[in-house]
Amino acid sequence: MTTPATTALAPLTIRMHERDNVAIVANDGGLPPGTVLPSGLTLCDRVPQGHKVALIDLKADAPVLRYGIPIGYALKDIPAGSWVHERLLKMPDARGLDNLPIATVKPPSLPALEGYSFEGFRNADGSVGTRNILAITTTVQCVAGVVDFAVQRIKAELLPRFPNVDDVVGLEHTYGCGVAIDAPGAEIPIRTLRNISLNPNFGGEVMVVSLGCEKLQPERLLPPGSFAIVDERNVADVGASADTPLDVVCLQDDAHVGFMSMIDSIMSAAQLHLERLNARVRETVPASELVVGVQCGGSDAFSGVTANPAVGFCTDLLVRAGASVMFSETTEVRDGIDQLTSRATTPAVAQRMIEEMAWYDAYLQRGKVDRSANTTPGNKKGGLSNIVEKAMGSIVKSGSAPISNVISPGEKLKAKGLTFAATPASDFICGTLQLAAGMNLHVFTTGRGTPYGLAAVPVIKVATRSDLARRWNDLMDVNAGSIADGSASIEDVGWELFRLMLDVASGRKKTWAEQWKLHNALVLFNPAPVT
Ligand code: CA
Repeated sequence: MTTPATTALAPLTIRMHERDNVAIVANDGGLPPGTVLPSGLTLCDRVPQGHKVALIDLKADAPVLRYGIPIGYALKDIPAGSWVHERLLKMPDARGLDNLPIATVKPPSLPALEGYSFEGFRNADGSVGTRNILAITTTVQCVAGVVDFAVQRIKAELLPRFPNVDDVVGLEHTYGCGVAIDAPGAEIPIRTLRNISLNPNFGGEVMVVSLGCEKLQPERLLPPGSFAIVDERNVADVGASADTPLDVVCLQDDAHVGFMSMIDSIMSAAQLHLERLNARVRETVPASELVVGVQCGGSDAFSGVTANPAVGFCTDLLVRAGASVMFSETTEVRDGIDQLTSRATTPAVAQRMIEEMAWYDAYLQRGKVDRSANTTPGNKKGGLSNIVEKAMGSIVKSGSAPISNVISPGEKLKAKGLTFAATPASDFICGTLQLAAGMNLHVFTTGRGTPYGLAAVPVIKVATRSDLARRWNDLMDVNAGSIADGSASIEDVGWELFRLMLDVASGRKKTWAEQWKLHNALVLFNPAPVT
């Protein structure tokens, strides 16, 4: 999927908005002092790749404009041609949550995109899986070692007999005991785990391994009626019964004598579910059955120039095709809240976004930090001076479609169109919460590079720079660096990504993370106390 990096011989800078008084250097390796830009401006410092150069003389306290907005204020006079790094900038305060523009933008309705489909696994509840996986839900971390042992045996001894089943995964996590389970906020990890068990890629085949004495009892995790059992004899009638017993193997059950008794119980339960999963076949479904989560990680200054705009273009394609798309990462869109509330389809949707932002502001304040705690050393090395600059590049993943829905952390997504799914920006926590929302395909952009992957859904990774795509050619699925090189447009890469998504969703192609089996842990978001 990648193209060779091109070394631009001529100095190349990228300016995002006509108001901007800085531009970023695109050349691999940066540019040395004395370089004369095409505009005639001479660099007075070495400027690393992705970092900003002052296009005019900036007086102390002057706004430094990128994406047409102040990303900071000069701490001292900065001559034209200087490297503008984070130590020269004072970060603006966060935009207040009052007096925001509410549903003011009426984007021209984009034409429907018809005729695109993929091969998926239709579930009894109407959802569609892109993979056919047996998931073993756990109520508590105590059982993780036993489940891991059983999963290895299932993979070795049972899975080869069920060729239509892609994988077996244990849904291991650190929750379940030692937690204040009735505290405000505890509902978030509990519903997250419940909704992950019901992810479309698991086919409604819910089985649970419990210890027995834990706070999070199986019937609290999955109350009667909250889960569906697929019954191929009468598909129309599944999941409706609140009487369907939950399939639980409890390790402290008196019936177990010895460790192998526990393993045998898990394996015999797994076999029944594998038989039903194996009977499933892919069928042609419209692209509207995609539930896509987009996020970024290890971002750099190119994220907002190449990969994220291409993902944003693809987001618009998905919305036009009638699919569900989620963007998340609350702290990374917080500084663009006015752009989001203005794009809301209704005042109620805008209000829900404001509530989620206010909740997160308060959550961070409890820890005596704010959104500025988000940026990493790697972000800064990649040219992102602060969270304001990072957010302006992150938010473009949401494209230009109206925002028609908002969900809270751990909630299940039920709507088509563009949704703000409020989550932390942490890659694995965001991915875990998007899994709970029902994501069946994940798109992840990176500039610094991360080998991120999830066991439950394919993760398509998009590189922001050709240099990264070249070095990580067997980890990155799409190279959006071609946009900075000038060899492809944002639209070209957006369409490439859209077509790849249909191939990956259909199982015709595997992502690099799938090929290498690179899987990050499920990490539950638990804002409640631990005892
Ligand atoms: Ca992230």
